[in-house]
Amino acid sequence: MEQITQRITQNLEHLKQYTATPGNGCTRLPFSKEARSAVNYLRDLMIEAGLRVKEDEAGNIFGVLDGEDPSLPCVMSGSHYDSVVHGGDYDGIAGVIVALETARLLKKCGQKFKRNFVVAGFNDEEGMRFGTGYFGSGAMLGLRTPEYCRKFRDKDGISIYDAMKSYGLDPEKVEKAKWKDGSIGHFIETHIEQGPVLDTHNIEIGLVTGIVGLHRYMFTVHGRADHAGTTPMDMRLDAVDVASKVISKIADWAREKGDGTVATVGYMNVLPGGINIVAEKVEFSVDIRSLNMANIEDIAAKIQAALTEETAKIGSTFDKETKLVIQPVALSEKMLTILEKSTQAHQFSYKRLPSGAGHDSLEIGQKIPTVMIFVPSKDGRSHTPVEHTDYPYFAKAAMLQKELAEQLLSE
Ligand SMILES: [Zn+2]
Repeated sequence: MEQITQRITQNLEHLKQYTATPGNGCTRLPFSKEARSAVNYLRDLMIEAGLRVKEDEAGNIFGVLDGEDPSLPCVMSGSHYDSVVHGGDYDGIAGVIVALETARLLKKCGQKFKRNFVVAGFNDEEGMRFGTGYFGSGAMLGLRTPEYCRKFRDKDGISIYDAMKSYGLDPEKVEKAKWKDGSIGHFIETHIEQGPVLDTHNIEIGLVTGIVGLHRYMFTVHGRADHAGTTPMDMRLDAVDVASKVISKIADWAREKGDGTVATVGYMNVLPGGINIVAEKVEFSVDIRSLNMANIEDIAAKIQAALTEETAKIGSTFDKETKLVIQPVALSEKMLTILEKSTQAHQFSYKRLPSGAGHDSLEIGQKIPTVMIFVPSKDGRSHTPVEHTDYPYFAKAAMLQKELAEQLLSE
């Protein structure tokens, strides 16, 4: 175990230098020179580990440990190598290094497996630069086209299409990054939790049961601007009065649902926004997530009904804009069960839990049996330079991944 920790530590420490903001977190945006350096390093590590390296038309990198029958669906493991701006040194990239360590361990055991084991380093999972997400894993599934690449631009007006060209990729060929249907049998991703549950409860391993679905709305409550001193309480159309009555219930509705359901009002805007003016308008966002889509839909319906009732009482109105709807993904119970047994055999403390954040597994898990392992994030912090995970956790995840892969590769 010590040796495994040492190799992972060395790899991840080395990768820390590939940031556009040295000393202030990891900034490794897609198609940047930092991304290129990280991919080059991953390629060197893959070759050193005895893997066959493939780089594709979408900027993904794969290392293949060949099995006896390459025509059988492979077992793939990995994560993304890009980061947000001023992000941490473990989000994504640690999953690539854990997958690589898994390949090293499989190779070292000397056995020839039936199937290929593939280490994946995906490009642009975060979607930070172009306001998108899952670019690389989506391309692997055949979901990216030249039109898609032309559509999205970064803050300097550079499209994915042009960024790919200057990076040395041909965006016209992005569809060639698709893997043949049925060629990937199983997908395994280790990721830092990015939340506080494991760290708070001192649990070493999270077995992720599913990735939550999500509804995102922007509501606008309409009122009427009036003098705060001269307009009697029963003659107002007060948008704050109405909105706050509804907003104050949303968190409780999520609590009532339990099983990890969360609802957040993260944005509010009061117009015109004067201390002595009755509010003419309130805009507020709602983000609802759960493994159970029915919970999300029910909370959304309750908000709608409450706003209808409260606005009707004073004779005002409201609008609803749906920003995003994502279906939840259930992860593979078969793989979870194998992982759970290994975890118990090693006497690692563990917990089954849902993922509240999206990952490459969200995209991949829609089509391919997928499982995720979480390791603790110190204080739950992520997408910040203070993001931290103790290295031995990654070694434990690599051990579990190896034992799971061994079984799947021999099926
Ligand atoms: Zn990530």
